[in-house]
Order: sequence, then C-alpha cells, then structure tokens
Amino acid sequence: MLDKQIASKKFLVSPDRSMTSDARNDLENYAILGGSPMFDKPLHVNKPWAGERRKFDRYLDAAWETRRFANDGPLALELERRLEDRLGVANCVLMSNGTAAMALLLHELGISGEVILPSFTFVSTAHTLMMQGLQPVFCDVDRDSWNMSAAHCAELITDKTAAIIPTHAFGRACEVESIQAIAERAGIALVMDAAHAFDCSSNGQKIGAFGDAEVFSFHATKAFHTGEGGAVTCQDAGLAERLRLARNFGFIGHGRVNGVGTNAKMSELSAAMGLTNLDGFDASVEKNKAVYQAYVEALAGVPGISLMPFDENETNNYWYIAAQLLPEFGISRDLVMKILHAENVLARRYFFPGCHDMQPYCGMPAGTEAHLPNTEAITDTCLILPGGSEVDPQDARSICALLAGIVDNAAALAEHLRWSADQQAGSERSGSF
Ligand SMILES: *Cc1c(COP(=O)(O)O)cnc(C)c1O
Repeated sequence: MLDKQIASKKFLVSPDRSMTSDARNDLENYAILGGSPMFDKPLHVNKPWAGERRKFDRYLDAAWETRRFANDGPLALELERRLEDRLGVANCVLMSNGTAAMALLLHELGISGEVILPSFTFVSTAHTLMMQGLQPVFCDVDRDSWNMSAAHCAELITDKTAAIIPTHAFGRACEVESIQAIAERAGIALVMDAAHAFDCSSNGQKIGAFGDAEVFSFHATKAFHTGEGGAVTCQDAGLAERLRLARNFGFIGHGRVNGVGTNAKMSELSAAMGLTNLDGFDASVEKNKAVYQAYVEALAGVPGISLMPFDENETNNYWYIAAQLLPEFGISRDLVMKILHAENVLARRYFFPGCHDMQPYCGMPAGTEAHLPNTEAITDTCLILPGGSEVDPQDARSICALLAGIVDNAAALAEHLRWSADQQAGSERSGSF
C-alpha cells in the first residue's frame, strides 16, 4: 500500500528536471492538490513510545499490594538511584513535571532580578520566571548550533543579572564551558534546561552534573519519559535535600514544616512508567538512531535542506530530527509544512515563534525589546521531522523522497497552490451571494 503511494509520487523525484518541469498535471498527485496522502496514518514528531507492558505491570504489582501510590515510595526512590547512576550525577530529585522542577529550583537558589535565557526554547521557562517576579532577558542563539550564544550572553550581563538558563536544544549540549566561565566571572547561578538532553553528553560527560543544577522534563513526548514528570539533578547534596523538602510542602516530619514548599512529587504510577522505560531505553535509542541515519543518507542528495547533525563522539538520544530549509529550497518553510501535513507527515515548526515574539514578552517596554537576528532566522526556517521509535527508517526515506520531489517541483507547486488558493477564495466569495 505504502509502496504504491510512494510510486505514485515517484515521477516527481525524477533526476531529469526537464521532464518534471512540465509535470503540472502530475502535481495533482500531491495530497494538498487532491491526491491521496503518502501515509495512511499521521506520522508525528516524537509520538510517545513505551517499554514493555508486562514490565510495567510487574512494577505496579508491588505498589498495588502495598497500596503505596505516592509520597516518595519505593519505585520513585529506585528510579532516582538508577537515574543518578545512568547520568553520573550525585543527586536526582524527581518532580511532577519539568516546569515545576524549574520553579522549585529557582526558588531554592534564591534567585531575584534578571535571568538570561534563550528566546529559542520552550516558553515554560520564561513563564516560570514571570510567575516568580523575575525578569526574563532573551539571548540570541548561535546560527550553527541553535544553542545560546555565549558571546551575546556575556553582553547581556548587568549588575541585576542573577542567573543564566541555557537550553541543550534538541539534545545538543550548549557551550557549557564558556557559559560556565561567564557565570563564574559574574558570580551568578547557572541552571541548564536539559529537557531535550536525557542521556546526552558534552565532551564525554553526561548532561546532568553541569552548572548549579540541571532540569529534565520526563513528559511523554521526550526521549525518556514517565508520562508526566521531571527532575532536578545536581552535585550539591544540600540543594538536593532542600528540593526534596520543598517538593513535599516543606514537611520535615508530622506537623513540622521547615519552610515554603509545594506539591511537586512524582507518583508511583509515573515512577513505574519511568523504570519500565529506563529498562527499554537503550533499545529505543537504537531505533531512533536508525531513523536519524536514514534521514542523513536520504537527505544528502536533496538540495536546500540541512539536517542538524549529532556529534558521533558524544552519546546522543537521536530523538529530534531537526532540519532547516535554506533559500535554495525554493519554497517557504510554511508551505512545505502544509504540503507535508496533507501527506500525513506532521512536521512541526519548533520552536516557533521565539519566546520574545510571544505574549506577554513581545509587549515589553519600548527600547527593551529583544533583537535576536539568529533566533528569527532559525524560527522562520526550522522544521522538525517525524522521528523517534514510532517511525521506521523506511518512513524516513519516504519522507525524504517527498522532500526531494517538493524541491524539484518547488516553483510549479508554489504557483499551483497560489492558484488553487485564489480559486477557493473566489468560490467562497461567489458562494456568499
Ligand atoms: C518539555 C520542555 C519543558 C517543560 O517540561 P514539562 O515537563 O512539560 O513541564 C521545558 N523546556 C523544554 C526545552 C522542553 O522541551
């Protein structure tokens, strides 16, 4: 079935461009122009995966017998120990989600004032800063790595700066050493958003032990997950202990509270999911890697699209297939995304827009707006393709064939789509009489 669908679009990737330039009617094979979609079912960017169901049941059996479902039960404690081993970090403090983990950490570090973070990240960090009365200061990213620009970060330091929060975007470590040096020189905190970077390394050392602390999200859409969940990892045992108290209302015993806290504990059900997925993690990464490699090979001959490489000297989770459309592609990223969506290839603009272009951050007082040319160039051209263990290498090759066809027919497709949009607008207008 799939082969037939690929074949039906195959003439569109003919190496003989003189043939395809005259393929106007054939364009109708594209689903957006009335053809049938290349895939029967939607292919998502990072559809949640899960380890073995029977293992999950086994972990749950123990919780069922003891009726221990919450409050740092044995499954959560076991998961913390195993994550500390896996990441090579002294302390892992599990939390209910990544956003709560970041909020508690900033509170326990006693941060106040300005905090520098990339605009090219998930908006949760900026929101967390605002909710704690902190001032987000958006930093540009490096054009090649898509991570915080250390040079721009250094320029943004003022005497009000209290912390820097870089993201290890799409699993590639940020410029850890340069940013660490900036934080040390300024005498301020360094917290890493490691939500994308589970089990990834920087210069051979696993992410988790850098800076004052690192924050993970274990949301179902991440490379490793617990359904909903997150963690703070750090080397400082005192900070970890304060976080353990703060995630449980500050209780140090029955009726005794040592300070302000909240409820950010991970349930035993989530911990069971985490243990199951940790058992299956290496096998899952193998699959992710095979998909990534299929993309690398199949995109090599497609002009105008570049894939963000993983550094093979590091450990990687190969979870995000991050691509960028270059001007040579000949058709805008947004139009490509529409064409792909019609084929059931649910590629995403991620992160789009940059936080500095979202409410309320775009409404900051005049003169303080962020000017972030690299962030804007990347948010306008990035395209995250379906990857992870629910996509197989053949799917990846088919998606690349589709992209090759789009680039071969870029001008004709753009013209055809403009024409059909005009037709539709015309018939809507006439229909309204
Ligand atoms: C997912 C994510 C978060 C938020 O984590 P939650 O567990 O969903 O609260 C923060 N930062 C980045 C980069 C993320 O991808």
